[in-house]
Amino acid sequence: MIKVLFVASEMAPIAKVGGLGDVIGSLPKALSKIGVDIAVILPRYEQIPLRELKQVAKIDAQTILYSKKVGGVKVFFIDNRKYLSRGPIYFDRTAFADSKKEFDRFVFFSKAVFQLLSRGILKTDIIHANDWHSGLVVKLLQADSCQLKARTVFTIHNLANQGKRGKDNLMAEGIKNADMITTVSPTYAKEILTKEYGEGLDGRLRKRFKKGELRGILNGVDYTFWPIQKRNKIAFQKKLGLTVNSQAPIFGLVSRLTDQKGINLITPLIGGLIWRYGAQFIFLGQGKKQLEDALRLAAKRYPKNVFTKIGFDEHLSHAIYSQSDFFLMPSRFEPCGLGQMIAMHYGTIPIVRATGGLQDTVRHRMTGLVFEETKPLALAAVIRVGLGIYKNSESLERMRQHCRRQDFSWDKSAEQYKKLYLHLIRAK
Ligand code: ADP
Repeated sequence: MIKVLFVASEMAPIAKVGGLGDVIGSLPKALSKIGVDIAVILPRYEQIPLRELKQVAKIDAQTILYSKKVGGVKVFFIDNRKYLSRGPIYFDRTAFADSKKEFDRFVFFSKAVFQLLSRGILKTDIIHANDWHSGLVVKLLQADSCQLKARTVFTIHNLANQGKRGKDNLMAEGIKNADMITTVSPTYAKEILTKEYGEGLDGRLRKRFKKGELRGILNGVDYTFWPIQKRNKIAFQKKLGLTVNSQAPIFGLVSRLTDQKGINLITPLIGGLIWRYGAQFIFLGQGKKQLEDALRLAAKRYPKNVFTKIGFDEHLSHAIYSQSDFFLMPSRFEPCGLGQMIAMHYGTIPIVRATGGLQDTVRHRMTGLVFEETKPLALAAVIRVGLGIYKNSESLERMRQHCRRQDFSWDKSAEQYKKLYLHLIRAK
């Protein structure tokens, strides 16, 4: 059986900030179902209780390897007080800061993973590294002096966050050195070859793409994380202190609050949509202060129509996906996006911009509403189309059904990863 070790910074449900957490919490599970021998390695963050872990090895006096099963998958944790095991997953709330502390944390983590491999404490055929946090592992494995035979896959979950310090760029190291590069949707795989979306690495990516070494594999959803809940608009409105009105269309948002997510396409429309249509908004997210403040302000100004929670709240996120009528995702770019797929699962209609994985998963007027231009007016136009559909109960139910019928489970994509691993092993 082929052995694969995932190296990552997040894994749902034990350490999740965004979509990367969902993917590492579900893809390894799907792969082990189809006969891949899987393990995951993460930092032992402060929020992961030590008492639930089993000690496996001592790397040095301050650094210890632990393990535990998570969702049936073997997970290793590296504990180190100075670098890994104090503080939150990311030191900045946007998860997008290139702070020295963050950089040092993941350099330390990557070096420790490499040591575990070179000392033979961990053995694997494939290292599957994810985003800049593990880019250095790939580089170390590719060095001429390295005797290890493991092949490397490097997955780009978000090219915008590169782990840059001075001349160092750990995302670039992953891209340069991995045997194979993947990203999380077919459209994003094409977009990152352009200057507009390439974040300064498009030249390097084009080179690898021309050699057939860059592929887009669509992320899936692990539906066991998202049990169906019955709709009850009145109870939901009551709970959040909004005007109780079964006719009011509810727009939900669950998102990291960064410029990527197009939040500032939404905010100019809030007042008008409330005034004209009695719309209601539920915002859940955290990140950039300016965006947090804008959403807080909307709730303050329209307390009966807008509910805002700044923070991370798994429970509320489930309620928003399952109880809203529309789910907003007007992203400027979106490598894959899981929010729109989770919303569809609940029959909540996604409103998305035509980019990356949003373009690959939502069909305009069939399973959602899709707009092109990054302008509030373009978003407003598709919202109006959506409200037209909403008014007609038959057309609303038809669209909801189309949404619910979509199947974004991991099966197909997990097969594609498995094929890739086998290909790499054979090409050795
Ligand atoms: P990204 O990976 O860019 O953050 P995705 O749409 O791929 O965006 O995934 C976001 C995931 O994180 C979803 O599961 C979403 O529900 C979750 N999420 C984002 N922000 C919050 C929050 N504030 N509270 C709870 N869950 C959140």
